[in-house]
Amino acid sequence: MNTLASIRDHGRRGYLSLQFLLGGSAVALAGLLVADGGNVVPSWALAFCLAANVLAILILGYVRRTIIAELDRASADAEERQHRAITDTLTGAMMRGHFLDELKRGVGRPLEPRQATLVLVDIDHFKQLNDSFGHPLGDAVLVHVVKAMKRIFPDGAVGRLGGDEFGIILRDCDIQTTLARADLLLDTLRGGVRHENHTIALSASIGAALAPLHATQPKELMLLADVALYESKSAGRGRMTLFDKGMLSDKRHRRFIERELRAAIYMNELELHYQPVVNSDGSVFGVEGLVRWRHSVRGLIPPDDFIPIAESSVLIDTLGEWVFRRACADLPAFPGCRISINVSGEQLKRDEFISMLTRVLDETGSSADRFVLEITETVVTTATADVLRRLAAARSMGFRVALDDFGTGFCGFNYLKTLPVDAIKIDKSYIQSLSEDEVARVLVSALAQIAQIRDLSIVAEGVETELDFTLARAAGCNRFQGYHFARPAPKEALAHFFEGDRDRLPALAS
Ligand code: C2E
Ligand code: CA
Ligand code: CA
Repeated sequence: MNTLASIRDHGRRGYLSLQFLLGGSAVALAGLLVADGGNVVPSWALAFCLAANVLAILILGYVRRTIIAELDRASADAEERQHRAITDTLTGAMMRGHFLDELKRGVGRPLEPRQATLVLVDIDHFKQLNDSFGHPLGDAVLVHVVKAMKRIFPDGAVGRLGGDEFGIILRDCDIQTTLARADLLLDTLRGGVRHENHTIALSASIGAALAPLHATQPKELMLLADVALYESKSAGRGRMTLFDKGMLSDKRHRRFIERELRAAIYMNELELHYQPVVNSDGSVFGVEGLVRWRHSVRGLIPPDDFIPIAESSVLIDTLGEWVFRRACADLPAFPGCRISINVSGEQLKRDEFISMLTRVLDETGSSADRFVLEITETVVTTATADVLRRLAAARSMGFRVALDDFGTGFCGFNYLKTLPVDAIKIDKSYIQSLSEDEVARVLVSALAQIAQIRDLSIVAEGVETELDFTLARAAGCNRFQGYHFARPAPKEALAHFFEGDRDRLPALAS
């Protein structure tokens, strides 16, 4: 029941009780008037009380009716609004958020998995249809497709996931029936939709995945059904494909992510989150930008799932430029702080990297000394003369360079003495084993001493507990980063770190 309906019910009960009490007292007064006959209490006083009571009852009755009617109307409006939020007004299919909730219920919990089939339907060439025949036809097509889906899958929950992408959740439906119904849907669509005395044939690509056979998590199920749908598309569209593990073979999967990632960059589906890096006293030194991919269907995708794929093509350059531009735009949110950005070794293999940095600084009017470029240890240790030249060029422009994930590669201490870097970030695996691993403690302490001699800052990554913090500080680290202080988050969520406490923020130097 919504709040308005609950107020109405309580109000109604309150008014009725008051009317009942007043009614009772009017009857008692009338009895008194008749029995007493004006002997003790004057009759005019009793008559007045009686009239006042009756009038009060009438007024209350009127107020009750009007207020209840208003609340009824408001409550119906609220229900209508809620209905609109869960239903796509054009097609009557569920909206994406509501559909995903339904999918969550459909697959059950990890310990109590349920049988469910997720069918994804994507109308082929919808954009061309819209462009050639106009939006009214586009709308008619969407309505037609949803009607057909609801008729053919009467027990399914139908949702609209994007412009021309739909989903159907089926519970306890065997695969043969699902395949037969999908074929029927394709046939129905081929039959076409009427438009200005013409019949326009439609086609759709369909992909399906089963829970718990293929996946138990809703997001994973969505991804796999999407992979199957992509398979339908690349096999010539207008068909249905059931997910199969072979579809995740490296090459195909990569191509799939690459295609989507390229679109995501242009459609602004990427986000740059930030994680503070703090000094020993807990004051903020800077932030590290960490990219996030918020996919419209698959939710938040972590960078480890797509950076390696972007790195296998020049897509990493596009992504790197997007990140740097975003960081430049976000500089005002972090007054007095440096922003670290992660740079892939692949980007450093091309001169385009330096020209991109110059171009973006020029276009955004930002200064290089507000940035740290984080480069993984292995990139630096395997660097060619050209890569080192580019690193030197970036440093001469004013960028600082930090050696990321130190300890995961094979960087000898000797080598460390000459590396062209300003800071070293010790990998979280070392920081998290400081409490039980003597070797980790010795390594971090030795590193801290070299860092001190070379005037490098030394950052402990992955500080998750007070104990990690204490041990990392004791080992000689001077900056710290990890869930103990803050998780990576959108810049708005970190605003409190930068408010009111500006005096404690360290100067840009060091
Ligand atoms: P990284 O540069 O080592 O980033 C630190 C990772 O550790 C982040 O994971 C962060 O969320 C995580 N982390 C931070 N504090 C803690 C902690 O206390 N405990 C644990 N267990 N983890 C913590 P994330 O964001 O998933 O990034 C993974 C990697 O993806 C990054 O590792 C970086 O190599 C790469 N990456 C992220 N953003 C970019 C980018 O914009 N460009 C490039 N080329 N690579 C990026
Ligand atoms: Ca990093
Ligand atoms: Ca790292």
